[in-house]
Amino acid sequence: MAQARAEELRRLLNRAAHAYYVLDAPVMEDPVYDRLYRELVALEQADPALIRPDSPTRRVGGAPAEGFTNVAHRIPLLSLDNAFSLDELDVWYGRLLKVLDREPQEGSQEPALPMVGELKIDGNALALSYEHGVLVRAATRGDGERGEEITANVRTIRSVPLRLELEPPPAWVEVRGEAFIPDATFAAINAERAERGEAPFANPRNACAGTLRQLDPKVVAARGLSFFAYTLHLSEDWQAGPRSQWQALGWLKAAGFRVNPHCALCPDLAAVKLFCDRWEEERRGLPYATDGVVVKLDDLRLQEEAGFTQKAPRWAIALKYAAEEAPSRLLRLTCQVGRTGVVTPVAEFEPVPLAGTTVSRATLHNADRVAELDLCAGDTIVVRKAGEIIPEVVRVLKELRPAGATRLELPPTCPECGSALVREEGEAATRCVNNGCPAILRGSLRHWVSKGALDVDGLGIKLIEQLVDRGLVASIPGLYGLDAALLASLERMGETSAAKLVAALEASKQQPWHRQLYGLGIHHVGEVNAKALARAFPSATTLEAAALAGDDGEAADRLTAVFGIGPEIAQSLRQWFATPANRLLLEQLGALGFSLAAAPDQNAGGDGRPPAPTPLAGQTFVLTGTLPGLSRSAAQAMIEAAGGKVSGSVSRKTSHVVAGEEAGSKLIKAQALGVSVLDEEGLRALLGTDPA
Ligand code: NAD
Repeated sequence: MAQARAEELRRLLNRAAHAYYVLDAPVMEDPVYDRLYRELVALEQADPALIRPDSPTRRVGGAPAEGFTNVAHRIPLLSLDNAFSLDELDVWYGRLLKVLDREPQEGSQEPALPMVGELKIDGNALALSYEHGVLVRAATRGDGERGEEITANVRTIRSVPLRLELEPPPAWVEVRGEAFIPDATFAAINAERAERGEAPFANPRNACAGTLRQLDPKVVAARGLSFFAYTLHLSEDWQAGPRSQWQALGWLKAAGFRVNPHCALCPDLAAVKLFCDRWEEERRGLPYATDGVVVKLDDLRLQEEAGFTQKAPRWAIALKYAAEEAPSRLLRLTCQVGRTGVVTPVAEFEPVPLAGTTVSRATLHNADRVAELDLCAGDTIVVRKAGEIIPEVVRVLKELRPAGATRLELPPTCPECGSALVREEGEAATRCVNNGCPAILRGSLRHWVSKGALDVDGLGIKLIEQLVDRGLVASIPGLYGLDAALLASLERMGETSAAKLVAALEASKQQPWHRQLYGLGIHHVGEVNAKALARAFPSATTLEAAALAGDDGEAADRLTAVFGIGPEIAQSLRQWFATPANRLLLEQLGALGFSLAAAPDQNAGGDGRPPAPTPLAGQTFVLTGTLPGLSRSAAQAMIEAAGGKVSGSVSRKTSHVVAGEEAGSKLIKAQALGVSVLDEEGLRALLGTDPA
């Protein structure tokens, strides 16, 4: 079992490494590679008989490409070991103390070794040789022993000095550092490639590697590469050499190199951790890609003492940022039935840490997506979660599929009520169409009492489950027939909470019309659309009349005249009002005392007063960063009041991005797409308001 898995992993990782290092066209995400690599390391450590000479764990990088002279490195260029958490950083430090024979005595404190924290620039390592101060050779890392000689290309990088600013210069020096492509340049290169019909580069690091290996230096010059220096090797007879990494960085600066300014000399591990924490967030504002922090022992003599493993120095470690992609093993497929009866397949997999949380479930959307992914139980899948975004299954690594694995599909019947599931022709969704399905009822009740709808406090999921499962509530109006004594008898309820709930339900009858409308849960009618519809149609009666007025397209016209309401929503409204059960629901709600209409003092557009001006109608805004004089919700409210829409993501269709201080990736994307960017003043100018 372990042998077969190691064999499969080795084959897959070797293929990925070739695609990555040699072809500059990766076939998997870096964090996925890292985790599978870790799995192979663990298998090889548990049973060294599994180690093969061709294992990726035995090698640095890839073979040098053809077309360039390949040159031997005077000093090998190694890789870095990785830590994926601060705990792993502790483990590394403990190992380092052991190697240096500085382990603390029992009861005494861990000795503090000064270390340098540097950003790990996601580019390509270069070795630059200078003789008597003049750049004579530049080489890539290659396989660590031999790299490609690319001097002519590197001469075009402006931040690489052709002559050192030192007098007298050393007879020989090798400077190492990272060549990289800034994000904005990367976006422009890919845009150009797309225009020429060429495949885009997967990321700035691959774009940079591909550029460094161009045969024509003019192409390299046009690509805007940059370079940060971080390592110095002087010949031993050079007396004035630095004694620490921190001094080496100073030496490099004085010699005319660009050294990344975001580095720190840390007196101990606690200071290193603070540096790592700080940059986990702040790196998002940098105009180039970084994939972690490199921690290096400061004292060069101690570095020498610590030495190297087969692939990496023991005196340094790369702490990688929380990954947004990871491999996991698929366990099963389950289904959730929503309030509209739509069945959502969900992948359940072994828990993986992703973007700061542990994830073990991801929605698969619908049957088409399940078929497209081609899932089998036991498959190794790639899962992605970026920041706040809901986790998703990206694909299956079919090379790692266990033999004889069974295919996973949506079940033919509803897992909640057992009735046959239906998929209409042309529809993506599979549905349970049993109106009595408890899952549908639970979903509609939850929606009705949710914050944006009737906002009823004290009616959580668990209580709704009890009410439905015991047959105490069979519809929304049923909630209003519950008496306090009955509620008090339920699990985790007491007399006080029961009385409060009855009062909260009663009070919910006074919620404004747009909340009542949203609470009905009409397909596609979210909070924003419910507000727009409630403004244009001040009662259920007027909305129903508009929705059902003739079938010659007139109905759709009246509805779609409302900003934000498209034909799909109009169709959904028509269907909803045409369904007798829904009209009965409205009648019952009316009988319970719901107004189903705007209060007389709410200017919903039906009281003869002119509607508020909407200068931003048809425009979509994205807010990012902190505005000096406006909270995000205030800015959103002002935009919406002026008829504009606020969206969470930037696309070519975005009208304006409003950027404040510490704006991040959304601003970068807006600039890359050429979308208009406004500050607070610009927004106020559009709205015609002055700062308060
Ligand atoms: P690495 O990128 O994890 O770390 C070593 C490199 O870090 C050095 O060679 C250097 O180029 C760079 N670096 C950046 N800033 C530095 C600094 N301040 N000080 C020192 N070094 C700095 O290791 P690697 O061996 O270059 O590559 C392995 C990585 O490549 C993997 O972790 C994986 O993410 C990626 N990879 C991906 C695939 C794939 O299929 N996606 C395949 C192979 C490798």
